[in-house]
Amino acid sequence: MAIEGGCLCGIVRYEITGPLTFADHCHCSMCRRQHGAAFSTYAAFDPSHFKWLSGEDFIKIYETSTGAGWCFCSECGSSLAGTEQGRITCITLGTVEGDIDIEPALHLFVGSKAKWYDIADDRPQFEKRPPVTCEPR
Ligand SMILES: [Zn+2]
Ligand SMILES: [Zn+2]
Repeated sequence: MAIEGGCLCGIVRYEITGPLTFADHCHCSMCRRQHGAAFSTYAAFDPSHFKWLSGEDFIKIYETSTGAGWCFCSECGSSLAGTEQGRITCITLGTVEGDIDIEPALHLFVGSKAKWYDIADDRPQFEKRPPVTCEPR
């Protein structure tokens, strides 16, 4: 069954026809700013399984000099996906609808964590980047 999701205003919708393969919580200062939150949560999948269903003209990508980007709806500002060289590689788990069968596996960039947020689970924590991850870099 395909995974579907979308932004707050409803203009942008997407579909992922394969499984989510990995998810993590990222506490880096870039994700914190881009999300306006304590951390971001992204999930990875095979990029060939991803497709926009609607609103593609409203999508904006903010890209850093490394080629990694944060993709959002230009109407409502919802953070939707992470990109590498303009290609969608991971989705914000908060925009996915319905039940999913994976959980975030770890916390990364906890060295940049917000001081006002305490991690209250026992998932592995990495000061910077672990060997496997799926968030924009
Ligand atoms: Zn929107
Ligand atoms: Zn991050």
